[in-house]
Amino acid sequence: MTCPYCNRDFPLTWSRYAPSPFGRHTCPHCGKRSALKATLAYIAVLVIETVVVYGVALVIRAVAFLDRWRERPSLLWFLEVSALAFLVTFPIDRFYDARFRKLQRSRRDTHAH
Ligand SMILES: [Zn+2]
Repeated sequence: MTCPYCNRDFPLTWSRYAPSPFGRHTCPHCGKRSALKATLAYIAVLVIETVVVYGVALVIRAVAFLDRWRERPSLLWFLEVSALAFLVTFPIDRFYDARFRKLQRSRRDTHAH
């Protein structure tokens, strides 16, 4: 990722990604905060990821509990799938952030100039 203030690169590591999954990062070179731009493509990726995880979970559930597949999924099931969705989404999101998204100066800083 390239810092929008000093234009130097820094890697998106897990320790850097974990506390800020929503894309706010502090540059290790100049210490300024910047945010990853939320593009339409990025939002589409998030939506597709979520749909795929829940879709796969529904299919697995239907296969595993053939006799009960018409019943409404329990709250516990939704919690389990949501936890799984987070586990699946974060590595993909981190990869996507590092690969495709660009850091931009925060809006507050832009207005201050
Ligand atoms: Zn910087």
